[in-house]
Amino acid sequence: MDSPFLSFFVIYSLQLWWVVNGRKFSDHHITPIRLDLYRSCDNLIEDVKALVDRHPDVFTMETMKAVDNDYSAAISVITYNNPKRGLDEKLKSRILISFGQHGRELITSEVALHLLSVISKEKMLPNMDLSSLDKTLENLVIKVVPMENLNGRRLVEAGDPCERRNGRAVDLNRNWSVDWGKKEQDFDPYEENPGTAPFSEPETQIMRKLSTSFNPHIWVNVHSGMEAMFMPYDHRNATPDGSAFNAMKSILEDLNHHHCGGRCLVGSGGGSVGYLAHGTSTDYIYDALKVPMAFTFEIYGDLEAPSRDCFRMFNPINLATFNRVLNDWSAAFISLFERGPLLLDGTSDWVPIDSYKELVGRKEVKGMDMIDLGMQEIRTYFRLFLLSSVLLMFMFCSRISKSKCIPSLSSIHL
Ligand SMILES: [Zn+2]
Repeated sequence: MDSPFLSFFVIYSLQLWWVVNGRKFSDHHITPIRLDLYRSCDNLIEDVKALVDRHPDVFTMETMKAVDNDYSAAISVITYNNPKRGLDEKLKSRILISFGQHGRELITSEVALHLLSVISKEKMLPNMDLSSLDKTLENLVIKVVPMENLNGRRLVEAGDPCERRNGRAVDLNRNWSVDWGKKEQDFDPYEENPGTAPFSEPETQIMRKLSTSFNPHIWVNVHSGMEAMFMPYDHRNATPDGSAFNAMKSILEDLNHHHCGGRCLVGSGGGSVGYLAHGTSTDYIYDALKVPMAFTFEIYGDLEAPSRDCFRMFNPINLATFNRVLNDWSAAFISLFERGPLLLDGTSDWVPIDSYKELVGRKEVKGMDMIDLGMQEIRTYFRLFLLSSVLLMFMFCSRISKSKCIPSLSSIHL
């Protein structure tokens, strides 16, 4: 009598447990940061510094800082340059790569360190030809930002694995001036807060200063969340025209074939990813700074991950995938170093290094800055015009009639 009842009760209880806990584990399980695979932000910067210290002949490291009210940011920048070998400094190609712009994309900063280790030859990539690497590197100056968003990364490590914004909730990839602040219908303020104005954030101010003063030929902004290689534009569904487009397309297709297994989406950011992004770094660096090759790489994504399981969605969670991503993307960068400079000749804005400081001034006054300068000039001319008119009237009147037509100077605002 009691046996069927007991069986029913046990099965019912098990089903209930599975519904409650099974869903919990499948849909709401949050994968913790794999501390055995990933360094903390402090450890990563320390390891980068130790690597730089072991190779003072080719590496230097600086920390750039900026403050806004009580919010401050510091960004480490590593420069590779081998002054004893290769081309005249003025003829070297300049490459700037930034990692870790979004806090939750931990894997990108690990790739930065791995790439620096490969450049230093402390680590080898499968099938790497050292003499060919030497030959490639001797013609380059490379600047690497291993962790652009240190404050945001600290929030992730403190327990918010989905945080992508900086330490005061601004998305650093929406805070640049090209098409800044425009909001699409699906705008999500949590994800895409563009800040109070273009370049309102100290991190963006530092990156703008760095990119303007270094004036790279090639820029790469490295992210995770999917596998893709984008060229401009992010803010509209279009690519640049002409030779720049051909050079960028050719190199991205080559990298996709050799290092992404053909899985990467290739095209303009706005045209390929399914949404438009306004105020991005890559659009500014291409459009305002006129850097001839500007890319956004998305190096990994787990599209099966539940939406709140951000660590898993943006970062490999097992050793084999972690190592594959490090090797594949370091190799992709080495290929970019080899092929990119060769294709620069086909683009229009190749500028030798001795001209770029002069160019900084010119480039900085493009777009909004140019309008400001124009308005300033018009105001100055208008004031001079008013002043000379007053003087002429004064001289004229004083000759004709001293009593009738002297204007009141206080009524004219100079
Ligand atoms: Zn990102």
